[in-house]
Amino acid sequence: TRLHLDVMDGHFVPNITFGPFIVEAIRSVTDCHLETHLMITEPRRYFKEFIDAGSDTVIFHVEASTDAKQDLQQLKDMGVKAGLSLNPDKSAEVLFPYLDELDYILIMSVFPGFGGQSFIESTLETMRRLTAERGGREILIAVDGGVNLETIRKVYETGIDITVVGSALFKAKNIPMRIKDLLHA
Ligand code: ZN
Repeated sequence: TRLHLDVMDGHFVPNITFGPFIVEAIRSVTDCHLETHLMITEPRRYFKEFIDAGSDTVIFHVEASTDAKQDLQQLKDMGVKAGLSLNPDKSAEVLFPYLDELDYILIMSVFPGFGGQSFIESTLETMRRLTAERGGREILIAVDGGVNLETIRKVYETGIDITVVGSALFKAKNIPMRIKDLLHA
């Protein structure tokens, strides 16, 4: 398992969550792979802080960067896995030019900014297209947003590798039981 940390700056998205200090605190208590999802403008300005804090994968939004190729390369040079995130209204082709640089693709199945939104069905097609297009490249493909007991099977049927769950897990009364239910849905 991995922990997915949603960083929001109140600018790229209207909400604010936390910064590198919290990532560092989480790093100090777990050996889990930490993937940091930067929903912030000018993400490259903060790469070093989030890497120093202990991130293993750093993901930024393609539209938040002025030169995504260069930013991905910079992350790799700094020794972490490099990921791009795609909003639900964008087509899969937006990421095609970056496939050779990418370690990780995060398909947003809700609009970034708030938890608890419902899953946008049209993103299933984006998942199918990106899993087909990656070919033999070693890219992990993940989906983020609104995945729950009802949607998790459809999502994995597209061929993606990772599902990020938030509300569907943490709002459950019995979290260990919910993990089992999600894995066997
Ligand atoms: Zn996220």
